[in-house]
Amino acid sequence: YRQTLQMRKSFVGKSCRLHFEVSPLKIVRASRQYLYDDTGQEYLDCINNASHVGHCHPHVVSVGQEQMSKLTCSYGFLNDQTAMYAKHLISTLPESLCVCFFVSSGSEGNDLALRLAASYTKKHDVICLDEAYHGNLGNLVEISPITYKRLGLKHQLKEWVHVAPTPKTFRGKFGADEPNSGQLYANEVLKLIQKAKQNGREIGAFISESIISAGGIVVPPENYFTHVYRYIRENGGVCIADEVQSGLGRCGENYWGFQVHNVVPDIVTIGKPIGNGYPLSAVVTTKDIADSLSIFSSTFGGNPLACAIGRAVLEVIENEKLLSSAKNVGKCLKDGFNEIRPKHPMIGDVRGVGMMVGIELVMDRENQKPATETAEILAYRMKEKKIIVGIEGPDKNVIVLLPPLCFTIDNARFVVQTFSEVLASIESEA
Ligand code: PMP
Repeated sequence: YRQTLQMRKSFVGKSCRLHFEVSPLKIVRASRQYLYDDTGQEYLDCINNASHVGHCHPHVVSVGQEQMSKLTCSYGFLNDQTAMYAKHLISTLPESLCVCFFVSSGSEGNDLALRLAASYTKKHDVICLDEAYHGNLGNLVEISPITYKRLGLKHQLKEWVHVAPTPKTFRGKFGADEPNSGQLYANEVLKLIQKAKQNGREIGAFISESIISAGGIVVPPENYFTHVYRYIRENGGVCIADEVQSGLGRCGENYWGFQVHNVVPDIVTIGKPIGNGYPLSAVVTTKDIADSLSIFSSTFGGNPLACAIGRAVLEVIENEKLLSSAKNVGKCLKDGFNEIRPKHPMIGDVRGVGMMVGIELVMDRENQKPATETAEILAYRMKEKKIIVGIEGPDKNVIVLLPPLCFTIDNARFVVQTFSEVLASIESEA
């Protein structure tokens, strides 16, 4: 352990942070929803949203191993896996989204989405949300305000970026008791479109996650996306749904997060879960938008190994009925947290959809001051209890749970009960 830690500190960039920086775990293997450290200790993984159908799922592993020994890269040549995976993936999406591009990471996907939007609309300006994260490439950092906000960095907004308030009803501009909050937040987007016009600029794209993850599992209020999509399209722009986190069944019941909001985007970006831990990402769009880009290539995008794995992941979701399981287990998780909420003055809000749950901790419900330190202490103590949770939100006070879809009702009950015990012990110390 010590040697690995020393090598990591010496040779890997300091800015690549580890979970639990004070006492990072060394993970040596994983299976389904469990991680195992170098002492053999088992941890329940509530944050690894990439290993979607479960770490090292046997079907995914065997398909991957077989393809690995047959053909891994076929850049520029025809192969079955890429074509068949594109067809299968597209069958999970609304009819208008019928052309697929493959890349290897969510960031590349969002970068390509912006290029597609610009090539189709001939407009380069983008509206993003002020607590969004869309990736780590140069232009994506510009539309990921949470990165510089959370780190307290001084940042000069680029002239092509227009930032709308994140549509949150807890500690947001418009509250939960405001019945029209979806419309009111959408109006903020309309104002940006109009302001840009007055300044001689035109919006080419609106990009948002369907559930805003790094912003603290924010579920936009009813009708928000309906109004925003209409305003954007009426003004000649296109709508991009970043489904890197909220996609592929994470929200339960359906494959895609935008289905929660009853809208159909023009471009969808998909990443993390589709490769179950293997680098694979896709951008799916309409025929017209796809055809507007004259040339695109990616050495590893859509390679036969990645696509065979992608197909295996879809097969597991179907065979193991993971969409309905995510709905039921996710409901059990959220209901569980809502049940313990009255007992804990520090639980300000419980929110989420499906297996995407956030618990916002506050100093007390009256002042709603973010309990940042408590969130960190809680995550460390949960780790001592062998449960790994994440922390998100601009104030780093939202405990997030994004477990693999094979998570069970028993796992969910155990997490809620342990969380309640740990939080009670922290509250009693305060
Ligand atoms: N979009 C969202 C919503 C994300 O959460 C992430 C990664 N956390 C990305 C894009 C970027 O994906 P990647 O890290 O695979 O480049």
